[in-house]
Amino acid sequence: MTDVAFIGLGAMGIAMARNIVEGGHTVVGFDTSEAAMEQHVANGGVSAPSATEAVRGAKIIITMLPIGAVVQTVLLGPPGAVENIDAGAIVIDMSTIHPSDTDDIRDGLKAHDVRMIDAPVGRTSVQAETGTLLIMAGGDSADIEEVRPVLECMGDLIIDCGGPGMGSRMKITNNLMTTVLNVLTAEVLTLGEATGLDRDLAIEVMSGTAAGLGHMSTTYPAKVLKDDLTPAFMIDLARKDLGIAIEMAEKTGVPLALAENADTVYADAQSAGRGAEDWTAIYAMMREKQIS
Ligand code: NAD
Repeated sequence: MTDVAFIGLGAMGIAMARNIVEGGHTVVGFDTSEAAMEQHVANGGVSAPSATEAVRGAKIIITMLPIGAVVQTVLLGPPGAVENIDAGAIVIDMSTIHPSDTDDIRDGLKAHDVRMIDAPVGRTSVQAETGTLLIMAGGDSADIEEVRPVLECMGDLIIDCGGPGMGSRMKITNNLMTTVLNVLTAEVLTLGEATGLDRDLAIEVMSGTAAGLGHMSTTYPAKVLKDDLTPAFMIDLARKDLGIAIEMAEKTGVPLALAENADTVYADAQSAGRGAEDWTAIYAMMREKQIS
């Protein structure tokens, strides 16, 4: 019996499938790219002529495809691979897709008695190569445990995200942070250089402050996550510094897409009477607005 079917052998999938092969499993793969299929076979995998054929007899079916619509079409069709998936098998969708697509696909599979885990991955193709991805798994905990040995071929940190669809939601939440932080990082380094700073020194300095260490591991646990808004560094002062940076950016002609928006949020906090609170009170303010 086939152990694993793997659909989508792109930048990520090709290495993930190879690591499962190296873990001692038979991996029947399918990708619309012929080059990907050749590489999969060279890596010790087995090739199938279609997704519908790849899944035949597999206990675990992994999808690593670009977008939700493709995952949906491949699995549910028409013609859907699900028609050939054994009842009781588990589909693990590791693509990054919209959580509502995840929910729809789960429902579609359930109608055929096929279980699903949404398990998108953190990190990049570099860690896909080395089998050291971070896997955000959503589904029944017992199902996640059942497929853990296969997940462990691909990742070194597997986190049960708390139920069906939660892996997908965790991934999008994570990527909100990483994608926006990418732009902020580019803006900050560009402004630093424009003001004459040595880039390596700037990175060294910021690696030792909340700038590089991140608020989640420094200021938040020290203050707002403990419901302590007495100021370690107050909103009024934070906004003062942000204002100086915006002015310097204007003088040096560096466009800051995010700073102006951040400034309006700090201004809102001041208007709400939070100027003397800790700067992490921005989070308390947002939660309050969301809940009310
Ligand atoms: P990719 O474009 O390199 O690979 C996708 C593969 O799917 C391609 O080989 C393509 O030929 C194949 N494909 C498309 N339609 C198909 C179909 N109908 N049937 C079979 N195969 C089909 O993308 P990737 O970088 O491997 O990313 C895959 C997913 O993982 C995406 O959702 C992406 O957002 C996510 N992701 C990527 C990274 C990364 O660093 N590249 C990191 C984390 C998550």
